[in-house]
Amino acid sequence: MFGAKTCQVERYKQLRNALNRVCARFAETITEDIFEQAGKKLGMLRKKAMIFDNESEFDVLVDYCLYDVYRGNRNLVERWTDFADELTDADERLILDAMQKAHYSIFKITGLEPGMGARIEDCLYESEELFLYDINISNSALSDIRFGGRILCADDIVMTTGAMLPFFQRSMWLAENVVATMCRRFKAKSLTELTRKQKSEVTAAIIYIALAYGASRLVEFRAPFANETTNEPVGYEYEPEEIRRLHPKDPCICGSKKNFGACCGRNR
Ligand SMILES: [Zn+2]
Repeated sequence: MFGAKTCQVERYKQLRNALNRVCARFAETITEDIFEQAGKKLGMLRKKAMIFDNESEFDVLVDYCLYDVYRGNRNLVERWTDFADELTDADERLILDAMQKAHYSIFKITGLEPGMGARIEDCLYESEELFLYDINISNSALSDIRFGGRILCADDIVMTTGAMLPFFQRSMWLAENVVATMCRRFKAKSLTELTRKQKSEVTAAIIYIALAYGASRLVEFRAPFANETTNEPVGYEYEPEEIRRLHPKDPCICGSKKNFGACCGRNR
């Protein structure tokens, strides 16, 4: 099994390159209005200007634009299927197909295989343990940290579509609250029952929380994740500084129209 995975790494690299090529082409077609809509949802649009803390935030925005902004009933990835014939490369077509079924969630890393990837558990949807091919994560992540991100599966290889945002105890607690509140509001027992558009709302809230807790800054740090000032490695217990304030009097990120302090942010 170990050996099988090692040769799969080469296949993973080919597919990863195909994904990067396809994404670069799609990203060029994101229009201003889509950027604006996504930027607003993720808390990046402030006073009509898009503000990015760093490059990872921009990657997260592009990813959200491709998968979670709808025009009619289709996201940008689906609208691209009309032009699938333009993709002459077999891997690119495989990737385009996999992109239709990609999903966003928070994953817990249960084990690492350096140079290859990590075993992960889906914290929000029921699923079997997966093997995520990701060389960066395999060499850097501490094993009990959770990551928010989107995964897809092509040729039996599971990979992420973009930057994975770390969640720590406090932001995870908040994300779980928000997911539970949103499911109740949408009258669903679990995320599985939500419509795609409702899932996109949940994804926006999850990303908002991660960014509020400075997740995108940590992504860029040396391996393993380290505190910005002390350079000490951090674990799940780490409490990152709240860089985008979640004010108790602000409308809650779950969209309930209640104040954050009286809704998902209660008993912090
Ligand atoms: Zn709420």
